[in-house]
Amino acid sequence: MTQNAYLSGVAFIDEKIVPISEAKISVLDWGLLHSDATYDVVHVYDGAFFRLDDHIKRFESGMARLQMNINYNANQLKDILIRCVRLSGLHHAYVEMVCTRGVPKPGSRDPRDCVNQFFAFAVPFSWIANERQRAEGLKLHISDVQRIDPAAVDPTIKNYHWMDLTRGLFAAYERDQDTAVLVDGKGNVVEGPGFNIFALVKGKLVTPAKGILMGITRRTTIDLAHEKGIEVAERELTVQELRNAQEIFITSTAGGIMPVTQVDGMFVGDGAIGPTTQTMIDAYWKAHSDPRYSTPAY
Ligand code: PLP
Repeated sequence: MTQNAYLSGVAFIDEKIVPISEAKISVLDWGLLHSDATYDVVHVYDGAFFRLDDHIKRFESGMARLQMNINYNANQLKDILIRCVRLSGLHHAYVEMVCTRGVPKPGSRDPRDCVNQFFAFAVPFSWIANERQRAEGLKLHISDVQRIDPAAVDPTIKNYHWMDLTRGLFAAYERDQDTAVLVDGKGNVVEGPGFNIFALVKGKLVTPAKGILMGITRRTTIDLAHEKGIEVAERELTVQELRNAQEIFITSTAGGIMPVTQVDGMFVGDGAIGPTTQTMIDAYWKAHSDPRYSTPAY
């Protein structure tokens, strides 16, 4: 195999490292047929993983709560992810680890009969917000699509139940907006396709506390804000508060902290990226060279 075959990405599947184009799962896997899976995404920036241990911990917690088991411990998982990144040669990468329920015994509908499957891959980094959106701010639609009820699907287990999020995205595109945040049916916003949300309300950052994935970028943002002396409240964030916010940004492994400068066609503040948002974006990227958070891939 030449190095070129690995340039578009590298996967680990069925205990082997292969070019991404050769990584395939069974059509009978319940990960595909029932969205019965959990996953995590960690990024590599300038050749180093950001908060790798935290992503692996969240992945292991998701598997345990879904009663899934794989043959790899945290150190072995780390080693597999590092091998994928190194072979790809990528210095900015999007690295995903996945556990699916797997395929049951022929004729069985019992999840206990499935052999859980693990695979992982490293591909070039991809952003939620493109370059223009990062420079000018995203146009956000507050969707009336309700996020799946957390009593039904636990959003703290990172999952592929994205039908509501994808509906929100199409509703945003129909309105010429870039992305959408979903609601909880009780007048609050919760999260969007691949991101958590923060709003500056009366000089304090507010971020929803319930009905969301506990994002690792969200956690980083809260910790860095405290270091900067910026107050953060983790509580309900109403649709009305978001519409009237002084500043808004979204957070995700797929792009870090990204500004929002319009909500449903109305400017947020004066329509420029606000000073608190810019402080947080700068602090986030600076944190990548902090040894507390960084694991070199090379
Ligand atoms: N919320 C949802 C639904 C997500 O899928 C994601 C990430 O993919 C996030 C929030 C942000 O989480 P993190 O900061 O850990 O990437």
